[in-house]
This record gives sequence, C-alpha cells and structure tokens, in this order.
Amino acid sequence: MKTIAILGSTGSIGTQTLEVVRANGDIRVAALSAGRNIALLEQQIREFRPRLACVWEEEDAKTLRTKLADLSVEILSGMEGLKAVAVCEEASILVTAVVGMIGIVPTIEAIKAGKDIALANKETLVTAGHLIMPLAARCGVKILPVDSEHSAIFQCLNGERQNKIDKILLTASGGPFRGRSYEKLKNVRVEDALKHPNWAMGQKITIDSASMVNKGLEVMEARWLFDVSLDQIQVVVQPQSIIHSMVQFADGAVIAQMGTPDMKLPIQYALYYPERRLLAGERLDFAKLGSITFEKPALDTFLGLSYAFEAARIGGSMPTVFNAANERAVSLFLHRQIGFTDIYAIIRDCMDHHTVISDPDVTQILDTEQSVYERIEARF
Ligand code: NDP
Ligand code: MG
Repeated sequence: MKTIAILGSTGSIGTQTLEVVRANGDIRVAALSAGRNIALLEQQIREFRPRLACVWEEEDAKTLRTKLADLSVEILSGMEGLKAVAVCEEASILVTAVVGMIGIVPTIEAIKAGKDIALANKETLVTAGHLIMPLAARCGVKILPVDSEHSAIFQCLNGERQNKIDKILLTASGGPFRGRSYEKLKNVRVEDALKHPNWAMGQKITIDSASMVNKGLEVMEARWLFDVSLDQIQVVVQPQSIIHSMVQFADGAVIAQMGTPDMKLPIQYALYYPERRLLAGERLDFAKLGSITFEKPALDTFLGLSYAFEAARIGGSMPTVFNAANERAVSLFLHRQIGFTDIYAIIRDCMDHHTVISDPDVTQILDTEQSVYERIEARF
C-alpha cells in the first residue's frame, strides 16, 4: 500500500487527489494540510484519518483540535506544520498542491527526506528549479509532474529516455480571451476572466490562464523538468484542450498525449507511475470531435507570455520577480483594484526595477519575493 501526504488538500488539485485516493481505495493518507478552509479539512480528516494535519493559522489549529478531540490526529500550524507534513515519516510521496511560493521550503525538506514529489505547485520550479532539480537528483527522488502539460510530456517520454528531445510543443487553450485585441482586454471583468473554456481550477491559475501568464510559468517549469533550452520549447495554441502537449524527436516524429480535460488523469498517473489504472470518465470520441485546431500564441496581446520568456532567458532571480509580481497583481485584480492589463503593467514595472541575482539561494528567492510585494504595496 502506498502512503502519501498532501500540501493544499482543500484546493482544486488537493480535492481531486483525494477523489483519486477514494476511487482506488489502496492509498493511505498520512498527512494533510490546508490554508484556512478548516470545515473541509475536518471532513477530510474524518474520512481519510491522517495521523497529522496542518493549517496556516494557529487560531484555526486550536479550533480544529477542539472539533476533532474524538480523534488522535495531531494538528500543527504555520511553516513548521507544513514542513512536518512534507517530511511525514510514513509517506513515500508528497503531493504539492498549495498555491504560491510557500510550497518551496516544504518541498525542499521533503526531497531531503527522500520523498518522491507529485508536483502541482508551479512556483517551486519556476523560482527554484535550479536548486530543486539537482537536489532531487542527489537525493535520488522522482519529480512526478501533475500539471497536465508536463504530465503529457512525461508520458510522451516513456521509453524514450535515451533519445534526445528536439522540441517540446507545449499546448495552450488560449483561455477565454483568445482572439481578442489588447484594447479589448483592458476592460474585461473578473467574472469573464474566471470563465475558463475547458478546465475548472483554482481562482489564481484560472486568471493566469486568461492572461497566458500560466503558459509562461509552464514554459519555465518545462525547462527544468525536462532539461531543455528555452529555444526548444514552443507554445502551440490548441483551443479544444485535447492534446495536452507533444514532444518532437530528432527524426521528426512527434508524440502527443491526448485525453479529455480531467486533472484526475495526471494526478493518478503521478501517484501510480509507471502503472496506468482505470480512471472512470468520459473518453475521447474523435468522430464527434471532428477537428483539433492549432494557432500561434498572440504574444503582442498576451504580454504575460512574452514577459515570461524574457524572465526565463534572463534567469537567476528574474523568474521569481515575474512570479511574485503576477501573484500580487492577480490578487489586486480579483479584488477589483486594478484592470486586467494592469497585471502585465505591474509585472513589467517590477522586472524593469530589479537587479538580477544570478544564482539565488532559497533565502535570496524569498527576499526577492518580499521586495516585489513591498514595491507593489507602495504603489497600489
Ligand atoms: P487552489 O487555490 O484551489 O488551492 C490551493 C490550496 O493551497 C488550498 O488547499 C489552500 O488552502 C492551500 N493554501 C493556500 N494558502 C496556504 C497557506 N498559506 N498555507 C497552507 N496552505 C495554503 O489552487 P489549485 O489547486 O488550483 O492550484 C494549486 C497549485 O497547483 C498551484 O500552484 C497551481 O498553479 C497548480 N496547478 C493547478 C492546476 C489545476 O487544475 N487546479 C493545474 C496545474 C497546476 P485553503 O483553501 O484551505 O485556504
Ligand atoms: Mg497546465
């Protein structure tokens, strides 16, 4: 029996991970962690009976301890709690499904403790890929991608490890605003940006998909995960989200992974890799589908994607600036304090005013994040 721990069990990826666990019935959950949704966490603890759980605020931990006095679960809080969940002795896999750079430190601790990582949290590789990948190699742990595109690439590489990747074709849906001009993007409302055409996800990543910043973060992730140069990564818009990504090899062969848009597939693949298990759900019907179409991404409109390539090329601490500026800007947009294209303006401003640290350690990464937040706070 496999045993796992989950960071961010109350979120979109976290709850779908628990659906996969529930459907299979042969994975034990040793530890769970949530941010502030203690009502859902309580239900999850009652159902999955972890030994350990963690919430962000100590006050919430106290409330939960009282509510769960009938169980023997240990409830911790804050970063120390997240780290304890990450290194929880019984678990062999840590699912990192928290949103934000808060995922970096616990993930590093888990790798050091020899846990394989089912990685959903993008920020980890975007900001600290240069530290995480060599550390994982040294510790002999697997980084199993959960993001659908990276899982697709990982699946395309099965049996191909000895062959050099010529190109990664990273697919994008183009989001709800595909085809719009930059002018028309200026006045989009929060409700419009939250309507993703194909995927149901957490709020932050849904906005990132609408701005195509998400694709930019995925380019940065792909570069570390698959050890390719940025020039070997091409973003292809594929509006139906049927092809989850493709790999081109030296002989010109292109291998694609396809399926209906369902995050449970990449989650389950990561948990049972390399085994494929039954996953109930809709199957592709190509006759009904009729066609799969492709477009070039509109880099002049969706500036987030071109800024991401720029930040990745500069490297060092610049991807952290890109990520932190976007995170804060998305939060301001969700609170209706700025317009949609101001997200791009804020990223641009922060990137323009940053002095790059070439090979940042974790402290420098987190300090960079903080200084970006402070800059934005002072101006908005
Ligand atoms: P959600 O916003 O749905 O969930 C985030 C989770 O993180 C929740 O459990 C939340 O807890 C928890 N959390 C937030 N803040 C803290 C904190 N300070 N301490 C501890 N836990 C915290 O996000 P998603 O599930 O959509 O995304 C998670 C990660 O996976 C992101 O990095 C995203 O980019 C990536 N990803 C998501 C995909 C998707 O389909 N959703 C696809 C590919 C990647 P609570 O709700 O209790 O506050
Ligand atoms: Mg994705």
